[in-house]
Amino acid sequence: MEDKYDVAVVGAGPAGLEAARTVASRGWDVAVLESEGEEEYPAQSNKSTAGTFPRMMGSYNIPGDVVMHNTDSVLLESPDDFYRQARTGSVLDFGEFKEYMMDEAVEAGAEAFYSSRVNAPVVEDGSIQGVKYSGDEELYADIVIDAAGPGAPIAQDDDIGFIDLEPGNRAVGWEYLLEGLEPDAEGFADLTDSMMLRLDHDIAPGGYSWIFHTGEDQAKVGLCYIDNETHREYRGDDFNILDSLEEWIVDDPRFPEIKDREDIDPVERHQGSAHIQIPESVSNEGVMGVGDTVSTVDPLWGEGIDTGMKSGEQAGITALEALGQGRHGGEPDTSEKMMQRYDRRWREKVAPNRWKRDFMTHLIYNAENERYNTLMQQLKEKEGDSLRKLNEGKAREIIDIARLEDLPGLAKVTKDKIPEHPVIRKFKD
Ligand SMILES: Cc1cc2nc3c(=O)[nH]c(=O)nc-3n(C[C@H](O)[C@H](O)[C@H](O)COP(=O)(O)OP(=O)(O)OC[C@H]3O[C@@H](n4cnc5c(N)ncnc54)[C@H](O)[C@@H]3O)c2cc1C
Repeated sequence: MEDKYDVAVVGAGPAGLEAARTVASRGWDVAVLESEGEEEYPAQSNKSTAGTFPRMMGSYNIPGDVVMHNTDSVLLESPDDFYRQARTGSVLDFGEFKEYMMDEAVEAGAEAFYSSRVNAPVVEDGSIQGVKYSGDEELYADIVIDAAGPGAPIAQDDDIGFIDLEPGNRAVGWEYLLEGLEPDAEGFADLTDSMMLRLDHDIAPGGYSWIFHTGEDQAKVGLCYIDNETHREYRGDDFNILDSLEEWIVDDPRFPEIKDREDIDPVERHQGSAHIQIPESVSNEGVMGVGDTVSTVDPLWGEGIDTGMKSGEQAGITALEALGQGRHGGEPDTSEKMMQRYDRRWREKVAPNRWKRDFMTHLIYNAENERYNTLMQQLKEKEGDSLRKLNEGKAREIIDIARLEDLPGLAKVTKDKIPEHPVIRKFKD
């Protein structure tokens, strides 16, 4: 068969490229299909603030060349208070990071197909055989890895798909790279070399906003929220995310030169979306989904690069095991059972405690502004790593920090989230 590869990766984001690099480096034939053209890549897909931490940089050998700025603390801000945690991090140039990962995959032996938008799987006798791209072109492969992000053209296919990304679970984000930041403005926490996340419904209803310092007077300034009723309750139907972002920038004294929206002159604009949803499955016979395609992004603070890379690595390892079965005269084993090894790895290594993280996300995003202020006080009073434990949804930490006024919110989130708990789902099935 012409154009037959061992693995076809759909989408050249961090998750797909890590999968491609893993498989190609062991000598298998890998095709990476990317919708953007070679000249522009990455343009539209250059969407991320790309704040990340040493685990990701070290585990995947990411070079310092793609770092815009190193940071030494994470700040959590509420309307009237803040909490600082010492934590080393790096804000990447996401476009350069993607180009680096593409070079790595190609150097390992993968073949890049630019300007190749995948629109559907090639299915024969109920099994995936490859992908259709750029209209009616076809490329055949033993295994397909959908890494196209929330568009998920293979993972959401009616016949062989395994995920249904629901509109009410979609988080949208916009950010500007801006100059003119006063990092140490009076009355605010010092933002120098920090990644700051702000919980404040007046700015980001049902979500959060951020300022990540990228050196001198420059910063990535953004805002995201889940596009559901919480946002509409605060802002109504006709208020959009850009209004929210730009009004914040105008009102915030940390941009002293910006007095109205016309003064905003971003160096770059980034935008994107991801679903905050627990996938029931991340694979099917001959196909796996990685990164944002299967909602791998961490729900609470939107960290999707590290989790995406981990998912690409684990899908790559699973593909190697499946293909390896064919080395000794037999056929590659691309059965549903073999692919389910990836499901297990996703739950254990990529997104452990996912249900608890989802629970915490909904609890925090739905709390009132005044509660965010008291939360900062509580974090300051507690010793050690309580923010991390709280983030992880550690029951003891939640109980320690819970107050009487949290009970209605806790009850509501518990009611909404219990049906999604893996044990309950298994029981229902
Ligand atoms: C505004 C914003 C800020 C963020 N900030 C951070 C942060 O600070 N830290 C962090 O860790 N994460 C952050 N994230 C999340 C992170 O960027 C994503 O989780 C991560 O990029 C997911 O990687 P991916 O490889 O799954 O998908 P993507 O990066 O979305 O890559 C998908 C690729 O597939 C291509 N593609 C799409 N459709 C098709 C198709 N049909 N056929 C072929 N190719 C296709 C796209 O062009 C793209 O190159 C942020 C996201 C947004 C939107």
